[in-house]
Amino acid sequence: MSAAKKPPVLILLGPPGAGKGTQARMLEEKFGLVQLSTGDLLRGAVAAGTEAGKAAKAVMEAGQLVSDDIVVAVLKDRLADGDTQHGVILDGFPRTTAQAEALDGMLAARGQKINAAISLEVEDEAMVERISGRYTCAACGEGYHDSFKKPAVAGVCDKCGGTEFERRADDTAETVRSRLETYHEQTAPLIAFYAGRGVLKEVEAMGGIAEIAARLAGIAEQAGA
Ligand code: AMP
Repeated sequence: MSAAKKPPVLILLGPPGAGKGTQARMLEEKFGLVQLSTGDLLRGAVAAGTEAGKAAKAVMEAGQLVSDDIVVAVLKDRLADGDTQHGVILDGFPRTTAQAEALDGMLAARGQKINAAISLEVEDEAMVERISGRYTCAACGEGYHDSFKKPAVAGVCDKCGGTEFERRADDTAETVRSRLETYHEQTAPLIAFYAGRGVLKEVEAMGGIAEIAARLAGIAEQAGA
């Protein structure tokens, strides 16, 4: 066995609103891992008007899944960037078994494998409230919520001082229902998939952000982060 430490690969699974993005950003800051969010990559592609973005836009607005081919290609491109070499946290990918299999192939080609697939366990009903109140700083992406996490000074980002904020086009109560259904039908089967691989970690994620972050930090440390 090689003595060289392999960079960790963590996956965050969970329905929309479970806190994947927030927690991924905290792990990124604490351990120097890189957050790879296919949702962010696709929103970037939509904003840039690329072919992938044009194909994805209406599907995302309907709360459905963008095709495996498009998402896998977008992720593959991003994984090729040098900053991913010290370890990654996948946020929102994979979402289907076909994507999970494609990921295995991409990692094998880099001599890597998944260290932990962390399933954030939450209650669907609470997700609608969480999502419909959330917004982010337009400059740095820090996440906020109308009820649960307001900036210390109203209208000013705690992290970067930015004063412009944005809400996602798909963060409406109707679209959330569709995204939850999609999650249960197409993505939740990955929980059994990763349990079968022996890498599943289930984390109760209805509590406070800091408390959940501490649980995830423990898992990341065990994974070698
Ligand atoms: P997210 O930011 O992870 O909530 O993703 C927002 C939307 O982007 C989803 O509702 C899907 O339409 C699309 N999307 C993000 N990641 C994936 C993926 N891995 N597979 C298919 N569609 C995705």
